[in-house]
Amino acid sequence: MPEATVLPSAVLERIPTRTVDVGGLPVRRALPTRARRLVGAWCFLDQAGPVQVAPGAGIHVGPHPHIGLQTFTWMLDGEVMHRDSLGSELVIRAGQINLMTAGHGIVHTEESLDQTGGAIHAAQLWIALPESRRHGPAAFDHYPELPLHTQDGVTLTLLAGQAFGAEAPTRIYSPLIGMDIAMTPGSRTELPLAPDFEHAVLCLRGSASVEGHECVPGELIYLGAQRTQITLSATQDAQLLLIGGAPFQEDVLLWWNFVGRSTEELSHAATQWNAGDSRFGTVAGNHLPRLVAPSLEGVQLRPTPTAST
Ligand code: MN
Repeated sequence: MPEATVLPSAVLERIPTRTVDVGGLPVRRALPTRARRLVGAWCFLDQAGPVQVAPGAGIHVGPHPHIGLQTFTWMLDGEVMHRDSLGSELVIRAGQINLMTAGHGIVHTEESLDQTGGAIHAAQLWIALPESRRHGPAAFDHYPELPLHTQDGVTLTLLAGQAFGAEAPTRIYSPLIGMDIAMTPGSRTELPLAPDFEHAVLCLRGSASVEGHECVPGELIYLGAQRTQITLSATQDAQLLLIGGAPFQEDVLLWWNFVGRSTEELSHAATQWNAGDSRFGTVAGNHLPRLVAPSLEGVQLRPTPTAST
């Protein structure tokens, strides 16, 4: 096995997640944080659970809009009903992905199916859409099956992009990778990385060693770019999420459920949403209260730094 090539500019930063409340459920937010706003075009990463919730205490997120992004839900445990303004209505289960492309605008709801309680564990990510796609039509895709590969006692599930000779079916608009990595006690493996991508690893459960550094839940390990491989090992069961992508070349603003390029654009979308503008449509079959966009007045938004800054 050749030695890994790590150029001097390759970094390893440990970035703590922060706990936020999403519809009554505490989640760990790994992106954006003060230290890191983007990894490729991945601009948002929440981990909900793993947790067992009481009856009725799960996810109940009422109608809310998105623009300029894709929501990417990787379901690890539990069942959630998705409904949107395109008429989509389906249950996402463990091992499946929902990929909702907001484009110019969409509305959706997310609701735990099991009113008697049960398990919840999910990662929800957002992908900033490039200029060429962000004004386009909304779309929704559900992916019940994804490419799997096992090596050295490690099971890899390809969520986005290309790896181990396979290509994920998920429809994305910039060069990205997303991979779930399930490790068994005593496993050790090496994964090739694209050196022109920046990468980060989030430990979803258990603990593992990433490039010799312990990786535990509650911390995002940012690996920078210019790495050609990564070495992982585990002494216990562990599950990691690897994300990466070509450094995104557009300055994006992220506010509430919107990704845009200017405060005016975001403010206009918020005004339209709160006024019930037809830009966003409605969710058939919904019984949850509609969310209200907060005021942007006095809010200073900081553009996400691009790779060069
Ligand atoms: Mn949403």
